[in-house]
Amino acid sequence: MNRLEQRLTELCGCPVAQADDQTLYRALLMLVREKSRDKCQVVHGRKLYYISAEFLIGKLLSNNLINLGIYDEVRAVLQNAGKDLARLEELEAEPSLGNGGLGRLAACFLDSLATLNLPGDGVGLRYHFGLFRQKFVNDRQKETPDPWLQQESWAEKTDILFPVQMGGKEFAARLYRLPVTGYEGRTNYLNLFDLDSVDESLINEGISFDKTALAQNLTLFLYPDDSDEAGRKLRVYQQYLMVSAAAQLILCESAERGCCYHDLADYAAIQINDTHPSMVIPELIRLLGEKGIGFDEAVQIVTDTCAYTNHTILAEALEKWPRAYLEEAVPQLMPIIEKLDALAKERCDDPACAIIDEQDRVHMAHMDIHFTHSTNGVAALHTQILKSSELAHFDRLYPEKFNNKTNGITFRRWLMSCNPLLTDELCRLIGDGFKKDASQLKKLLFYKEDEAVLRRLMEIKDQNKQALSVWMHKTQGVSVDPTRLFSIQSKRLHEYKRQQLNLLGLIHQYFEIKAGHLPPVPMTCFFGAKAAPAYTIAKDIIHALRVLSNVFAADPEVSRWLQIVFVENYNVTAAEKMIPACDLSEQISLASKEASGTGNMKFMLNGALTLGTMDGANVEIAQLVGDENIYIFGQSSQQVIRRYAAGDYSAREWYEGDPNIRRAIDFLTGEQMLKTGDREVLRRLQNELIGKDWFQTLPDFNAYVLRRRQAMEDYAVSPMLWAKKCLVNIAQAGYFSSDRTIADYDRDIWHLGQ
Ligand SMILES: *Cc1c(COP(=O)(O)O)cnc(C)c1O
Repeated sequence: MNRLEQRLTELCGCPVAQADDQTLYRALLMLVREKSRDKCQVVHGRKLYYISAEFLIGKLLSNNLINLGIYDEVRAVLQNAGKDLARLEELEAEPSLGNGGLGRLAACFLDSLATLNLPGDGVGLRYHFGLFRQKFVNDRQKETPDPWLQQESWAEKTDILFPVQMGGKEFAARLYRLPVTGYEGRTNYLNLFDLDSVDESLINEGISFDKTALAQNLTLFLYPDDSDEAGRKLRVYQQYLMVSAAAQLILCESAERGCCYHDLADYAAIQINDTHPSMVIPELIRLLGEKGIGFDEAVQIVTDTCAYTNHTILAEALEKWPRAYLEEAVPQLMPIIEKLDALAKERCDDPACAIIDEQDRVHMAHMDIHFTHSTNGVAALHTQILKSSELAHFDRLYPEKFNNKTNGITFRRWLMSCNPLLTDELCRLIGDGFKKDASQLKKLLFYKEDEAVLRRLMEIKDQNKQALSVWMHKTQGVSVDPTRLFSIQSKRLHEYKRQQLNLLGLIHQYFEIKAGHLPPVPMTCFFGAKAAPAYTIAKDIIHALRVLSNVFAADPEVSRWLQIVFVENYNVTAAEKMIPACDLSEQISLASKEASGTGNMKFMLNGALTLGTMDGANVEIAQLVGDENIYIFGQSSQQVIRRYAAGDYSAREWYEGDPNIRRAIDFLTGEQMLKTGDREVLRRLQNELIGKDWFQTLPDFNAYVLRRRQAMEDYAVSPMLWAKKCLVNIAQAGYFSSDRTIADYDRDIWHLGQ
């Protein structure tokens, strides 16, 4: 018996072969905790606190085992005892502590920080039910709670409590800590705060609950439905709980390391991930005031300590809170926010830069830009648009503050863990240096013309497609044929991401097949997407896609060529199955609207080709792989911005002027769709597309149809050429490692110690 097996036996309390799965899972969790504790390090110099309302961390067992370097050994020990690691993994619930890309980015960053041996913790909230679990009932989305706090959870309860004043009452925020193991690196922590008084029995039907009982409901869900006032206020309370506890934790830890508060910026760097944690600015100023530091100095300290990441130019996502909400929830902050507003108005008299506007709303992003030392965008195009249009007045005021940090993904999860076949093949071809130095993936280009290598890459893709097919059948009862071309559009459902363009393109293909114009290759189009509970049109698009899927399935003439699969409850676990199996990655947002995207990077890294617009990081992908290795279509961001400025876009003109567009949109409420579809829902979507189409789907329709057709032809006609394009994509993906992104943040913004 080796040492690892011995320790596992002790932790199980019996030989591994005799332990049941639950016991073994628990033992592995303890083992990981022990091993990660050994890798904690004393911090010297600056430590990062990455504050974020979301951390979409995914399941942790496999990743922790990989990062601790004991994955293979553990699997072997289990196998010898007749146990299966994959089955144990299924016992773990995925925490849905994020909506999508923004939360997943935060999780990738924590992995890279620990891997690069940088001192950097996450700070967020311990939501009991995360976002929600998505179910389909009559092909419509239903939300149910998504519990993850099992008896054995990664988040360890501590005795650390911080008092937080909200709405005139005092609450106690308790700290829970999850170890974050780096790949052959140190251990950092994800610090999650919660109230002891939260009561899970408050939930009624679905995910509805009494939104006024603050002490009982505060951390039940991530972003409770904010379509009503009680929901919006709850968000303010959640945010304040998070930042007040975070600020106290930061001051406490810094003081323990010798900080006298005047020198806080030498001990702490705070990254404000989007506007949700913005109240940390006035809260820190308030707390520093309690330590005897004057207002002006406190403002300087906070500015030197904090930096802000902007994640979107969509106006509705830039938070503006009515002054009255803040006065009710956090009256102690309002005098400080007013003083900051006065300071901002001294620096700049343009009303577009004000913190408190004429309508008495507090602009969180404006407070961030004025009172942090760095504002970064998340892809080259996004930063450029911020500087030239959305935030141009701020860029003129503070040109030195603006910078770009193109997003990245951790290769440990999005390659090594989710695609072991490809990982092994890469190791065989170019050695394993790419695991810690992603730029080494370029060595793969050496094999660009090597037919044996290209064939092997396609074999791996086929095996991953088979694995996805088996998983789909087992978990969702859907049969798919793994020999078809797999196209995937998986991401949050939002009109700007334009799942509706894919929908219209599929209807067009349906008519083509019916007319005897058969596609070059049979295709299965996967979707995975949750819609915000109050986002009606997004839910309508889900319904339309599910119903169209029924239409195709019921028609043998069509189903031979075309299938739609809408995967239920898209989350990190589903993404890990889908992405390695993808041939064609659909990244079809309206140019200028997708800040970066990170899904696009995951697909590229796993050897899928991108069908996309010149938006977000697609632009950088296109530059890296070259025009011949990507399928770009549609309006440019400049054209889109010009069209918005002119205000002359009329969807109806496109609908009336183009018979193919009209035919596709009319189909939505035709006889076929109404067999299983809801007339009212489909009519509403149709009206939206004809009467508004705010994200300009129709002007890109024909270009999209043509470009997808070309991709299908390339796939069908010359597999070797296709494989070569895939190889180039994998080889050029190194730039999108979050290790590179984090190194950039550290070099330009954080300057962390060791
Ligand atoms: C990466 C990821 C996203 C982000 O996808 P985008 O295409 O960049 O919007 C969303 N959800 C999950 C589960 C992810 O893993």
